Amino acid sequence: VERTFSIIKPDATRRNLTGKINAVIEGAGLRIVAQKRVRWTRAQAEKFYEEHKARPFYGELVDFMTSGPIVLQVLEGENAIAKYREVMGATDPKEAAEGTVRKLFAESKGSNSTHGSDSPAAADREIALNFRLDEIV
Ligand code: ATP
Ligand code: MG
Repeated sequence: VERTFSIIKPDATRRNLTGKINAVIEGAGLRIVAQKRVRWTRAQAEKFYEEHKARPFYGELVDFMTSGPIVLQVLEGENAIAKYREVMGATDPKEAAEGTVRKLFAESKGSNSTHGSDSPAAADREIALNFRLDEIV
């Protein structure tokens, strides 16, 4: 089995959608093996999104990700990384397929309800940044 890292973003926690998003995740056969609700400092958000530092939306992304509570998760399952990307749908909800989390819930390309790791290396890095091994059960 594979693990991926997920974030339920501030637009979704603000609208009380954690349970609805978790139902989509579990309905797709992914298991939530770690979960905590936190509010990131700017330093934490900047470090997490370091690879996007040069992108024009970086400042806006850090502002958004620190604007309210977020739910950090580790998801486990067969092909969890690719499967969760599929469950989330395209970055922009206008392009997301029917039934995906972003089609169902996202407000815009920036305010898009969820994050999911895009590769095994990213999943390892993002899980290690946010959870201790003994928090994943
Ligand atoms: P994520 O990494 O959050 O799972 P992603 O891999 O689909 O999403 P990335 O290209 O990695 O998208 O961008 C990271 C995040 O930055 C996006 O989820 C979105 O919140 C934000 N973002 C990306 N492009 C834009 C944009 N053009 N304008 C505003 N925000 C953007
Ligand atoms: Mg990404």
